Amino acid sequence: MADENQINHELRSKAEAKARKQKHSRPDLSMENAKMLMHELEVHQIELEMQNQELREVQHRLEDARDRYTDLFDFAPVGYLILNEKGLIQNINLTACTMMGTDRSQIKGKPFSGFMSSGESGTLFLMLREAFENGMINPLELQIKHSGSGTFTALIHGTVTESDHAAPVCRLSVQDVTELRKTEALQQRHLDLQKEKEKEYTQKYTQELEALVKKRTQDLSEALESEKGVNEMKSAFITIASHELRTPVTIIMSSITLIDRLKELGHYDKIDRHIDRIKSAVHNFTNILEDFLSLEKLEKGVVRVKKETFDVQEFVRSTIEEMEGMLKTDQHITYNHEGKIQVVQDTKMLRNIFSNLLANAIKYSDADIAVQTQITDTQLTASIGDHGIGIPEEDREHLFQRFFRAKNAKDFQGTGLGLSIVERHLDLLGGSISFETELGQGSTFTIELPSSV
Ligand code: ADP
Repeated sequence: MADENQINHELRSKAEAKARKQKHSRPDLSMENAKMLMHELEVHQIELEMQNQELREVQHRLEDARDRYTDLFDFAPVGYLILNEKGLIQNINLTACTMMGTDRSQIKGKPFSGFMSSGESGTLFLMLREAFENGMINPLELQIKHSGSGTFTALIHGTVTESDHAAPVCRLSVQDVTELRKTEALQQRHLDLQKEKEKEYTQKYTQELEALVKKRTQDLSEALESEKGVNEMKSAFITIASHELRTPVTIIMSSITLIDRLKELGHYDKIDRHIDRIKSAVHNFTNILEDFLSLEKLEKGVVRVKKETFDVQEFVRSTIEEMEGMLKTDQHITYNHEGKIQVVQDTKMLRNIFSNLLANAIKYSDADIAVQTQITDTQLTASIGDHGIGIPEEDREHLFQRFFRAKNAKDFQGTGLGLSIVERHLDLLGGSISFETELGQGSTFTIELPSSV
């Protein structure tokens, strides 16, 4: 109210001064005219007071509106900044001040770039140049310093406004998206980890699957191979049966016929020789059949290892005895043993191995054969050496293949199965075989296998 009186008083003084200036033009008034003038003046005064009142109300409304807009500006949920073309802060709302941790009085007029690192201020500079040149501002993110400590990530949107009576300004809204970005980064990390895990899982699964497929393929090809093996065996059996088995059968048949004749002639003393020939032919015959049977069993994988403890010397001697019927005239087998006596092995398989190697040594040589065994805590070594035909160099690498026969062995009866059977048995027993040979001089086959469980 005091303000209002003051304003009225000032207006009154100004009006009186103006009136004094205009005094000389005032006409002389009659009483009547003066009364009318008084009336006019009173009406004017009332009008003026009414106008005055209205003006005051308008002023109040304006002040209210201004307060409302200040409130809107200052306490908006986003920061507002108004920059001039030089990037100086012309105005800033309280939200932005709080974000930057400083007072409005300390910010106004300062360059906005002062609140960020030099790299970031370069980005701001480019943004402002583009904004004032083209009126275009692409939203961008800047790291803005907080006067207390650290920085915050500000997402900035802006527009440039131009007016006729003022220089253009750039209005920016500033949103603190630090937490949002952190959360996004965490979410991303989480997703990445999940993807990594999925990848790991997929890789592991793929590997497992691959291993499974490989195993199945192997099983299948083994099954096919064994099927193929069995088929091969069958056709080989037919071939060999027609050649190899015919020989002992012919020998048996001719010997029987001869025995009959010798009986008729009363030459009983000559019969024994033919009985021996029959025995040897039968032995040969059964050997071939046994080879086929044991190879077929090995192929089908139905052979199981059955280990037992036994005396190796006794075992070798009895095996040699069994083979003696095959020995040629003046052919002997010598046997030598070193080390421990007891061994834990599968006797059936070991007998098969020894018989095959001994049969070859007998077959492919005419001279004596030397058998040696040696037992250590862990290993049984046995070698069978002959002074026979030896093995040609080019045939040596194929020796353990089924049905393979060296070219110098063609005149000897055989199926080419013995050594492959020996090798398969040794595989099952965890052993191995090697040989030394010289063409025309002889061969020594050596086997090595565990001597205990
Ligand atoms: P087979 O004796 O029935 O032909 P094996 O599988 O036992 O079949 O032997 C394969 C081949 O190895 C023989 O055909 C022969 O060429 C060669 N061989 C094996 N043992 C000897 C040996 N002691 N001396 C010379 N050659 C041998």
